Amino acid sequence: MEALHKKIREEGIVLSDQVLKVDAFLNHQIDPALMKEIGDEFARLFADAGVTKIVTIEASGIAPAVMAGLNMGVPVIFARKHQSLTLTENLLTASVYSFTKQVESTVAISPRHLSSDDNVLIIDDFLANGKASQALISIIKQAGATVAGLGIVIEKSFQGGRAELDAQGYRVESLARVESLAGGVVTFK
Ligand code: 5GP
Repeated sequence: MEALHKKIREEGIVLSDQVLKVDAFLNHQIDPALMKEIGDEFARLFADAGVTKIVTIEASGIAPAVMAGLNMGVPVIFARKHQSLTLTENLLTASVYSFTKQVESTVAISPRHLSSDDNVLIIDDFLANGKASQALISIIKQAGATVAGLGIVIEKSFQGGRAELDAQGYRVESLARVESLAGGVVTFK
């Protein structure tokens, strides 16, 4: 997606060979026009997939997921990282090791929002080692729902997440595929 590539080239900051900072438009300040384009692109790519719900993870997945949900006319659920006092039911949970924070945490979704009739599109901001995606897949399976595919805003293809999802047979659509961050330079696939 050319608008996203341009934004990454112009406003992305390479923090290391492993980490790209995009807090100018996605992870802190949000560019709504770009998010709308991203949501529309996910909706176009998964138009034929029979999606009934979108699942993402708080906080940075929410903006692109909501834009896709608006276009597709389906609800958006975000997995919560901190157990809220209002989430009192038996939750569907999975453990996830955070790539950026380097801590293990639990993410949760209320079973009231997912059922075995659902065909779920997972959307997230980044795909690195795939821990967040695998945790969401686990929760969706616990609900008896099916995974329609994964829509990723920025995939770092040099890390293992994409290969594992491919090997498991999931459809993954990444709008930007970063091949390398070596030398402080973003190289796309
Ligand atoms: P994974 O679980 O695939 O290893 O990592 C994905 C999660 O870690 C994403 O939800 C994202 O929040 C965070 N993440 C992974 N790599 C990066 C990165 O290079 N930059 C930023 N800002 N977040 C990242």
